[in-house]
Amino acid sequence: MRPTILNPLFADITVLPGIGPKIAALIGRVIGPRVVDLIFMPPANVIDRSARPTIAEASHGQLATFLVTVDHHNPPPKGRRLPYKVVCSDETGFLTLIFFHARSEYLLKTLPEGKKRLVSGKIEEFNGERQMVHPDYITDPEKPEDMPLYEPVYPLTAGLSAGVMRKSVVNALKRAPELPEWQDAAWLSKHQWVDWHAALEELHKPTNQTDLSPLTPIRKRLAYDELLANQLALMLIRKARIKTTGRAIAGNGSLRAKANKALTFDLTNAQKHVLKEVFDDMKSPERMVRLVQGDVGSGKTIVAFLAMLNAIETGAQAAFMSPTEILARQHMESLAPLATATGITLEILTGRDKGQARNEKLQRLAAGEIDILIGTHAIFQETVVFHDLAIAVIDEQHRFGVHQRISLTQKGPRPDLLVMTATPIPRTLALTAYGDMEVSQITEKPPGRKPIDTRTIPLSRISDVIEGVKRAVAKGEQVYWVCPLVEESDILDVTAVEERFETLKSELGDRVGIVHGRMSGPDKDAVMENFFDGAISVLIATTVIEVGVNAPNATIMIIEHAERFGLAQLHQLRGRVGRSDKKSSCLLLYKAPLGETATARLKILRETEDGFIIAEEDLRLRGAGDLLGAAQSGFPQFKLADLSVHGELLAAARDDAKMIIERDIELKGERGKALRVLLYLFNRDDAVKLLSAG
Ligand code: ADP
Ligand code: MG
Repeated sequence: MRPTILNPLFADITVLPGIGPKIAALIGRVIGPRVVDLIFMPPANVIDRSARPTIAEASHGQLATFLVTVDHHNPPPKGRRLPYKVVCSDETGFLTLIFFHARSEYLLKTLPEGKKRLVSGKIEEFNGERQMVHPDYITDPEKPEDMPLYEPVYPLTAGLSAGVMRKSVVNALKRAPELPEWQDAAWLSKHQWVDWHAALEELHKPTNQTDLSPLTPIRKRLAYDELLANQLALMLIRKARIKTTGRAIAGNGSLRAKANKALTFDLTNAQKHVLKEVFDDMKSPERMVRLVQGDVGSGKTIVAFLAMLNAIETGAQAAFMSPTEILARQHMESLAPLATATGITLEILTGRDKGQARNEKLQRLAAGEIDILIGTHAIFQETVVFHDLAIAVIDEQHRFGVHQRISLTQKGPRPDLLVMTATPIPRTLALTAYGDMEVSQITEKPPGRKPIDTRTIPLSRISDVIEGVKRAVAKGEQVYWVCPLVEESDILDVTAVEERFETLKSELGDRVGIVHGRMSGPDKDAVMENFFDGAISVLIATTVIEVGVNAPNATIMIIEHAERFGLAQLHQLRGRVGRSDKKSSCLLLYKAPLGETATARLKILRETEDGFIIAEEDLRLRGAGDLLGAAQSGFPQFKLADLSVHGELLAAARDDAKMIIERDIELKGERGKALRVLLYLFNRDDAVKLLSAG
């Protein structure tokens, strides 16, 4: 149960004065529904009204505070639309204060004639006169404390005013308790970080732009708290999972020997290295939960296959899961010859299997007659029962949510889990999302690959590009042509591909095929089949071909509106070519003019094919939140930590978490108890639940 000390922070924001259901809904949408969400929202900007120029010195548009004498109120205007004016002055000139829809009694009270007042706001020059429309503050110079010199500015949304937001945060902060220190004392003093409560107060009191930086000591301390909670939670979860022992799997190597003989290539050293890590994991009685990262084309499939054979050698079964039907079928096809050579049974199960045929497959699976079941998420269904599932492989992990990662592992008696991702996740991100797994990397690609000639070309030159495609097709080459998602809309998306399909068909006739997400499964298969066979030379597609598709003969990748894609996605798409020893190219068509960031992003692609460099740069240019589309990727969203700059803090938090677990895995000591509070503070109730009551 969450410690009661945190209750004030986990209350609904409607407990705050001035926040009714309407404002709560708005704040809920931008920031979050609870008090804690408000206190953890760093200001986006700061208003500085500390400048105190004279009226004559102030420049047009300047935000400043003036000490003035109220000379007189002009007679109230006749029309409702006309402004009410109050003329003020200092020794250097006049300043007219302007009010619309004013109540004169109120103004006469706040701006009594003959009295001195501090007025703060934006000064403007109008018809040669200095004026200020609706000053932000009017105060008695005897009580300067009534006016804040600095005000934080928070992210807003329509209907939510800066003032309401500011007040809400102030009130939220009042509910923040003093909490026990969860950070290591030596570490705190080394960095000269203040305690949590003080840091929080400071966070919301910026006085200049520097204070807004994520690199201030205050912000670093708070970011570290968040990262430590993340790392500690992941490690606790991992420890708990390891405790639920798996089984020791070590085949006799017979099937693997046959497979190796059937292979037309030698494994790379990187593949061998990863396989050794995998086999070691499988051999240990602890449950394997390992992520294999390998850039596109690094040869993950064969690694997965050999790992599965290891399990099959012991008489057990394996599952191999792909994010799309196309990919599942392709794995089926590419592994079929190896399976035959090895003498094992491969089967595929997707959403398309229905009725009698499906039942038959399920029966064979339950009877243990199928060694490897390849499939899409259809494998997750409850009716799918294995005879003895020992290892599950998930290919292209980022397409699956965390939820699926869990549900899959409930099949069979604690199967080992091997997760494969083609997205070279920056190390920093991998730690936050996959801290609960071991990570292996396939660090090299098979030899003999030629670099992919990557060019950027404005869309205005599309007719040249089409001519180029025609020439390439005449020479027997194959081309992918990718059209982007249009505003996340499936339908528009399809229109774009269909239009492009029509133009290219009119140029190239039957050699052009089309594939997109709204086609039926069998239709998609037929087209892909034709492309793999070479019956089709140009494949117009949406990003359905993004992951995994392997047509080694394709040598040209054209991506329309490349500027609309993420870097990692472009890299994945480009990875569809250059899969043989033939020379390949990638044309990134963009709509001019390109902004600075877009230019920089496309430039990176031209300069490198190293997925890790691309991913790191993507992180730097876009920030972690955007990187993979957080919702689909299951990556955590941080409020205070910013992984594009806090990478070192993350590494430190990881070491810290490791040490904590070594010393006090039940979090029972003094620091341990404080750390429990930290975990709750960052919503890691899931991790605390794994501990015994403390
Ligand atoms: P990815 O890591 O992108 O999933 P694949 O497993 O699809 O890559 O492999 C890409 C291509 O490289 C396939 O055609 C595969 O047969 C081939 N391949 C894999 N390993 C090697 C190797 N060691 N030497 C040569 N080719 C290899
Ligand atoms: Mg693959």
